[in-house]
Amino acid sequence: MFSGRLKTLKAYVPGEQPQDRRYIKLNTNESPYPPSPLVGTALREFEYKRLRLYPDPRAKRLREKVAQVCGVETDQVFVANGSDEALSFCFYAFFDAARGKVLFPEFTYSFYPVYCNFYDLPYEKVSLGEGYVVEVEPFLRTDSCGIIFANPNAPTGISLPLERMESLLCRYPQENAVIVDEAYVDFGAESALGLLNAHRNLVVIRTFSKSMSLAGLRLGFVIAHSSLIEALFTVKDSFNSYPVDTLTQMIGEIALSDESYYRAMREKIVLTRERFSQRLQEMGWLVLPSKANFVFATKKGIAGLHVYQTLREKGILVRHFDMKGIEDFVRITIGTDEDMETLLDAIKSSL
Ligand code: PMP
Repeated sequence: MFSGRLKTLKAYVPGEQPQDRRYIKLNTNESPYPPSPLVGTALREFEYKRLRLYPDPRAKRLREKVAQVCGVETDQVFVANGSDEALSFCFYAFFDAARGKVLFPEFTYSFYPVYCNFYDLPYEKVSLGEGYVVEVEPFLRTDSCGIIFANPNAPTGISLPLERMESLLCRYPQENAVIVDEAYVDFGAESALGLLNAHRNLVVIRTFSKSMSLAGLRLGFVIAHSSLIEALFTVKDSFNSYPVDTLTQMIGEIALSDESYYRAMREKIVLTRERFSQRLQEMGWLVLPSKANFVFATKKGIAGLHVYQTLREKGILVRHFDMKGIEDFVRITIGTDEDMETLLDAIKSSL
């Protein structure tokens, strides 16, 4: 009944989305603010009869809009059903076991090893430097078929400066892909987009789930050289011709046209992050310097699991990773100022 392949699958475990009661949800890095009001208007006015037809399989209008906003050509843009799908297609298209291992940081997005297992790609986790920082030198190896890292990294929130990314790209073999997952880049890190012209092996991945407040929509995109983008179309069309539906293509385009709204939301989140980090440090916590919409924090003498469980009982969800080396940390998504006040009160009274 079941395939041999299925028996060896190790699936990713997403953060909880509990339905049993109302929580202050600070566990999956969603935005606490709604999407642009233009999205609401477009949904209300949507001509439902359009759903009779299949969507544009190449999502031309949406890709044109992404290209305009990112300052690239349309043929450098690929859109997918969330950046998870974009990542999956990139692993399939660009990494090859025959050329060596996939390299990624020791602590990073835990979907990367899942894709490696899924596509039978050998991988190696590269140790982080002092202070959980991604170092460039350990990635400069000849036995690898490609590199992937998140910038800012997750769950640490620490960003890699542009000059270090450039140094990596200049010294790493050009026939191997370097994928930069910029899911959280809008909250203050430097983007690698400006390096695309000089480095044809660079692949940048973005999402609408975090800074665009559209996690429920499932939309992500890839920016890379047009030949790499064509390869992603080949993968898509061998899997599902229409992973991005008509409504999603329309909403994505509209959301991208409301830059001023989203800039204001990002600024709010960054301000809340800085204030919250400061307050938590004053309470004796170690908070890693974050450029994302979450912070990674620990308090000496308290187990991460205990923090997670205590807060959960108080109706606040944060994320705990049961991984040696970071087991005493929790990852806390930045919510509204009010959410963070409630969290600080709960920490003060119970931890
Ligand atoms: N990359 C990173 C680093 C993430 O944390 C996430 C969110 N879990 C994703 C990609 C996937 O985001 P989405 O599929 O919602 O676009």
